[in-house]
Amino acid sequence: MPTLEGLYKQRKAAYEHHLQQINEFEFVTQVRISAVQDNNTCEFCLAKSGQVFEKSEAPKLPHTEEGGCSCVIGCRCQLLVLIADDF
Ligand SMILES: [Zn+2]
Repeated sequence: MPTLEGLYKQRKAAYEHHLQQINEFEFVTQVRISAVQDNNTCEFCLAKSGQVFEKSEAPKLPHTEEGGCSCVIGCRCQLLVLIADDF
């Protein structure tokens, strides 16, 4: 039976790997947070969903900040990559 802690570990590892790829691609300039849009997603994650950041300021995911995510099955937010207009 997978634990929530184990899931977070997996999601964090996937995030770190993704971020590393993002940083290697010059044509990716910004990232956008994307929350899963279903009944298991908390209001915190829904509120963060759609926010755009410079890739150098990409937020850490999954959300673990104090007073943050309260999704029962854990934060499933991901980063979407935005491509530079002049690419
Ligand atoms: Zn959440």
